[in-house]
Amino acid sequence: MNILDEFDTITAIATPIGTGGVGIIRISGDKAFDIIKNIFTNPNFEPKKFNHGWIKDGKEKIDEVIVLPFFAPNSYTGEDVAEIQCHGGVNVVKNILNLVLKNGARLAERGEFTKRAFLNKRMDLSQAEAVADIIHSKTSDFAKISTKNLSGVLKEKISEIRNDIFEVLSKITAGIDFPEDVLEPDYDYLIDSFQAIKDSINKILSGANTSNIFRQGISVAIVGKPNVGKSSLFNALLSLNRAIVTDIAGTTRDILRETLDLGVPVTLIDTAGIRNEGVNKVEEIGIEYSKQSLSEADLVLFIYDAKEGLKSEDEEILNMVKDKKHIVIANKCDLSETRTSGTIYISALNGDGIAELKQTLTKTVCDINPEDLEFVTNTRQQECLNKAKTSIEQAMVAAQLHELQDLISIDVKSALLALDELTGELITDDILNNIFDHFCIGK
Ligand code: GDP
Repeated sequence: MNILDEFDTITAIATPIGTGGVGIIRISGDKAFDIIKNIFTNPNFEPKKFNHGWIKDGKEKIDEVIVLPFFAPNSYTGEDVAEIQCHGGVNVVKNILNLVLKNGARLAERGEFTKRAFLNKRMDLSQAEAVADIIHSKTSDFAKISTKNLSGVLKEKISEIRNDIFEVLSKITAGIDFPEDVLEPDYDYLIDSFQAIKDSINKILSGANTSNIFRQGISVAIVGKPNVGKSSLFNALLSLNRAIVTDIAGTTRDILRETLDLGVPVTLIDTAGIRNEGVNKVEEIGIEYSKQSLSEADLVLFIYDAKEGLKSEDEEILNMVKDKKHIVIANKCDLSETRTSGTIYISALNGDGIAELKQTLTKTVCDINPEDLEFVTNTRQQECLNKAKTSIEQAMVAAQLHELQDLISIDVKSALLALDELTGELITDDILNNIFDHFCIGK
């Protein structure tokens, strides 16, 4: 959709499609209340009041509902918005949606409600992106972190930096435009100001890696020879019976992946046991997959049988992972008294040591308290910040060389534009559409 498209009235189901207590159909635009008047038995709207009544198609009753009217500009989108709360059955929700469409609304595109909120200046782009992050967050910690940007933490910090850049630019421009009345700022002032701006940008960027880990997650592969208890550990960490556990070597042939919430999302991978002897064709393919998963994993859980001890086959596998981040685990500790330092002893069967392993895993994966993460950014925002930083660094070098302030102002303006791109003040249709395409319908 083009940014300049007319703001016609849009509608969508705002709740997941399925059976639930309540289903919500959202309508936004000039015709929202007119449509409600056509299909609702009690459309006597007042701001901040909900209305109870029936949705009707002509004389036919569709469902008993509550309608919440939000008057422009005090709504999510900044337009007139009506939300119909009906019973949460798949078909009743669809019937009401179809009725709203029949009465003049158009089906909303992905993220179109939030896009309108942005275009109507109800939120800046960092807040709109936070909405998508909250919806798509794979862990509860990331959902909490994302609310920081929704509440405008990043927006305020960027606006502060923008003001600082603008102040320097104003002084340079005044000196250039009115050389007789205004002295151009001295170079030491420029250098100090640029340094302070760069420090502020760096402060935001210092959380970039952690933000990326929280956003993208990491992959953890469980490797070891057959029958040491890889699938049992996989199940124990996930607290479910996902992988088949037997005492027959070579049972796991396909790679199994599941997401584990350790604050950061962890993709846990159960692999086929690696061995050289007695391998058939199918198992051989499984072993090849295991080696591939091992090389792609961010972290490896190497597991061996505590009762058998570390055999040469185990050592061969340990040798493959030695250059990667890894944790050494001895399983079946219920069958052995031996303990060696640097190894975590567990029993995937009875759960001993699993809590300790999870703690070590969390620490190794991302040793950070989400509350300590002051600024959360995505890669688009990081790119804009890096562009702004490069421009300020260039301006600083030019100031150190006492170059013409006219020239310096070019880099300072570029820094400003990069920040405007971050907040969405200056953004192309393509970038905007790309951002909102990652939303779901109804948001
Ligand atoms: P994998 O081939 O490495 O995936 O191993 P499995 O998880 O399929 O387990 C192989 C066998 O070891 C099964 O019979 C499990 O019940 C058994 N096993 C797994 N973990 C433990 C454990 O901690 N203690 C004991 N005693 N047996 C275990």
